[in-house]
Amino acid sequence: MTIFHAQKKKTRLSSTEGIRETMAKATITIRQGLQYQPHQASWFAATAALFNRVAAFYFEVIQAHEKVLELSSKEALTALEQLTHRTRANPHPVMPLSEIAQEVPAMFRRAAIHAALGSAHSFSAHLKQWRARKEKAEAKGKKFTERPPVPPRTWNKSATLYAGMWKGRTASSLVIKVWTGTFWSWLKVRFTGRELPAGDVLGSPSLVRHGNRWWLHTPVEKQFTTPPKIAQQVTANLETKICAVDLNLDGPIAVCTVQTAEGTILSTRFIGGGREIADFRKRQLGRIAGNRNRTGLIVEGEQDNVALWRKIRTRDEEFAHLVSRRIVDFAQEQGATILVFEHLSKLRPEKGRYSRRGNRKRAFWMKGRIFRYAKYKAWHEGIITSRVSPRNTSRECARCHAPIARYAEGQLEEGYTPGVPLMLCKECDLRGHADRNASLVIGQRLITRYHEKQTQEKPLAPLATERESKDSGVGGSHEPETEAVGHSSLSERHGPSNGHGTAHERAETDGSPRSDMPPPLRCSPSWGYAPSTPNSAYGSVSEAAGLKTSRSVTQAEVHLVMSQRASGSTKVAQRNGGSHATA
Ligand SMILES: [Zn+2]
Repeated sequence: MTIFHAQKKKTRLSSTEGIRETMAKATITIRQGLQYQPHQASWFAATAALFNRVAAFYFEVIQAHEKVLELSSKEALTALEQLTHRTRANPHPVMPLSEIAQEVPAMFRRAAIHAALGSAHSFSAHLKQWRARKEKAEAKGKKFTERPPVPPRTWNKSATLYAGMWKGRTASSLVIKVWTGTFWSWLKVRFTGRELPAGDVLGSPSLVRHGNRWWLHTPVEKQFTTPPKIAQQVTANLETKICAVDLNLDGPIAVCTVQTAEGTILSTRFIGGGREIADFRKRQLGRIAGNRNRTGLIVEGEQDNVALWRKIRTRDEEFAHLVSRRIVDFAQEQGATILVFEHLSKLRPEKGRYSRRGNRKRAFWMKGRIFRYAKYKAWHEGIITSRVSPRNTSRECARCHAPIARYAEGQLEEGYTPGVPLMLCKECDLRGHADRNASLVIGQRLITRYHEKQTQEKPLAPLATERESKDSGVGGSHEPETEAVGHSSLSERHGPSNGHGTAHERAETDGSPRSDMPPPLRCSPSWGYAPSTPNSAYGSVSEAAGLKTSRSVTQAEVHLVMSQRASGSTKVAQRNGGSHATA
């Protein structure tokens, strides 16, 4: 077995001629729905309640012995058991666990201790930061009104089942030890959903409640080959495909384009749903504001509004997962190995009603979230994510880099109206959808960054011909370095919230398989790029070039994919007034 592995590895290494290959690890979470009898649900609930009671107890113990936080997690475990666990060698622990719960299995206790340690570390870090801010403010003689962080008031963690708390795992069932409320019992549970990938390292499963249903979440460690660096990909192979994403606050939430490193545009996808989520949010924020008018208060934790805030957060979270998954799926379908976004520019303060300002802010946060999730999901597919400067990406022409006119249908084709869909370049006559144009500029910016670095004297046409003279501010030198994405992003999964992690699998965003999603609608856009106007297309940067390589772009079609979650029914909006192209 060992020999076989060694051989396999060696073959792979020698096949990649000069490109150094390293292995990377990533953790994803597989979610499986449990099947159980109604009375067994109360056992899961009892198990979770006990877990939280024990974790809350240990949190208290840690607060009383803060030095524990300076220890390694192994030492901390030993110290905490010494403080709480009665044994023959340790007959009088300081704070005996037996006072709050009898008969806690060792591995159950340890999982709860680690959960408590996680929360305590996070709380302590927040407290430290708060103290630092306070000190700084006071040193400057400023008034400091920020309230200190508070320890968790309620505990709502999912019970993690360490080895010893489960056994006999098969593709469709598992035997777990549950607390019925009066005794411990082994229980065989069946589950549905994604099978665990073979050969990967399984972590400890958790018993997780979503609404009224119980799920099993299992972290899986996946090993894969680290993709070559972006610089290497872009300069060594002009066929390298880059998927660029323009994220918007409303309208099509994401517009993705795929182009090769030498600038051939291959395909476009519009991902919609931004309007629906904004409308939804606006309604909830309006209700919250209504409550405020009655109570004169607006606090996120305010009792009346707790459910409303949760609703908004859940929907935002789901939506970010859905959109990021679609982005990565598109990149993968198209064979892209690089994903590029623009850096978030600053959120400008908005005027207007509370619901409008709040909505804007959340839509803005959404962009950051989509980026993080997409980066994380892409990494699992061997796709590297990067970001470029956002400066004027939506104001310059993707073909000649002159400033564009942006206008709405029926408006004069001049000036620049932010947020409206159409663009026209008066220099080179390029017309099209403004967000698609921005997406192309984002992709080009990444390519140019590396090509400029490589050949200072001879920038590649057609990407950079006019940009030097016209728009030197856009150049690459001041742009932030590529962020190759590693498992640093995984740390998001291990936050104190004990949440579901960021690696929701494709089937899982809303608990239903992806095939439930509405199929993409294909239509020929009215805003140009249609095959009927080949001369107005990109010249050497023409989409026609892509037609040979990618069948899915044959009508230069646009896929409009709307979130069906908006009202529980499938909604597909057609943005075009043009004719349908049934390929
Ligand atoms: Zn132009």
